[in-house]
Amino acid sequence: MNEYAGIAEQLRLRLANLLERAEVIEDDLRHPLDADWSEQAVDLADDEALAGVDDVLRAEIQQVRLALLRIENGTYGTCAVCGEPIGLARLQALPIATRCIKCA
Ligand SMILES: [Zn+2]
Repeated sequence: MNEYAGIAEQLRLRLANLLERAEVIEDDLRHPLDADWSEQAVDLADDEALAGVDDVLRAEIQQVRLALLRIENGTYGTCAVCGEPIGLARLQALPIATRCIKCA
């Protein structure tokens, strides 16, 4: 049994949740602009805010995917800077961490 199985499960749930949210936002971005001009300005402002959220979401989706990949290929839990193991408590608190507490 992989020692990170619990974390992997947590990451998979997180990924599913993030993908669901990204899809809702994308659906929202796709709808046609309101015919009314004043409404249109509001719609545009809303869409800009959503596009920003989308970037943050995309970045996190990417980080979660990379973390899962590292668990699969056995590089998970090793600091990207000093190569020392990252503490399990830190990984449980921040599963996408790529650096140990000293290098963070
Ligand atoms: Zn380190």
